[in-house]
Amino acid sequence: MQGQGVIISPSASFEAEARDARGFSRGRFTTDTWMSSDGHAQNARDMQNMANVDALIHQIASFVPEPAGQEKFFATFCRQALLEAYASQRYQVLLETNSYYDDGKVRWSRIIANLIENPCNEHIECIIYGIDISDEKIRLEELRLKEKQAMLEEEVNEVRELYNQADRDRRVDFLTGLYNRLDLFELIQKSLTGKFASIETMYMLDIDNFKHINDTYGHSTGDLCLKELGGLLKQFGEQHHICFYRYGGEEFLGIGLDQSNPQALAAELLTEIDALTVPLAPQSSISFTVSIGYTTNNRRYEKMIDLADQAMYLAKKQGKNRVVGH
Ligand code: GH3
Ligand code: MG
Ligand code: MG
Repeated sequence: MQGQGVIISPSASFEAEARDARGFSRGRFTTDTWMSSDGHAQNARDMQNMANVDALIHQIASFVPEPAGQEKFFATFCRQALLEAYASQRYQVLLETNSYYDDGKVRWSRIIANLIENPCNEHIECIIYGIDISDEKIRLEELRLKEKQAMLEEEVNEVRELYNQADRDRRVDFLTGLYNRLDLFELIQKSLTGKFASIETMYMLDIDNFKHINDTYGHSTGDLCLKELGGLLKQFGEQHHICFYRYGGEEFLGIGLDQSNPQALAAELLTEIDALTVPLAPQSSISFTVSIGYTTNNRRYEKMIDLADQAMYLAKKQGKNRVVGH
């Protein structure tokens, strides 16, 4: 185990990295001797004639700013710690730490200790050197920040989507797929404050003898009728620029933005509904009729709803399955 010490280089890339390092020092651990210090850094070149390995490590640790950091540095690289690392076959020991540079500024460094047994004399020798990783740290921090921002944006989008969904659920009647009264009154408010076009026509529609359908075929069939009617009204509304709302149980309110021929439009709707068939069993189906009242009298929107409603009741009185205008 004794003999003349020479420094050895385990590989060309390691050699190149060590040469690029700010400073590097060599020590022989088995004889506890400092061997040399060199490198680009004046701090490293100043470390000459060190009494032993731990004196060298203390000296390097003194470039770490805080006492806690210095202690950690010493605990990581002191002779005993590195001998223990070597014994457990850890031939490279790393630590990332702040340290003072020649210009007096503190930068991030990666300190690397490479341990090797010198084949010429079987002494355990070590090269310890530091690399400036401040750019690497900045890049890492930027990446971390970007990742955090992306996660934040994703969370905001998720919450927005949940809110939109909840808002849709509030406004849309799940059975018919039509908007409900909440949306209707918001639309009326918008129209009154000029944020939406003025409402020119209102249609009130009520299913004829719906109680009879419920009583005869059951409520689930009644529900199916409402669902099918909802689909028809949506489609009809899209074709003729009328927005239909589920106003009550089996009552629907249509909002039209023009006055052109509501009687003909309502009659066409009546015919389409009459032709609608709701499947009951594989071979049977039912159909139903509606009564429609409408008004184009647009002095006040609440009044229009009442007038359309009164017209609808008149249609009922006159025998149902018909259109009455006010
Ligand atoms: P009319 O021709 O005079 O309108 O007679 P009607 O039987 O339709 O009488 P009315 O309009 O008073 O009855 C409405 C019925 O609609 C009563 C109620 O049980 C039923 N209904 C309301 N909402 C629903 C629903 O969501 N599903 C089902 N299946 N029935 C409903
Ligand atoms: Mg009815
Ligand atoms: Mg009714």
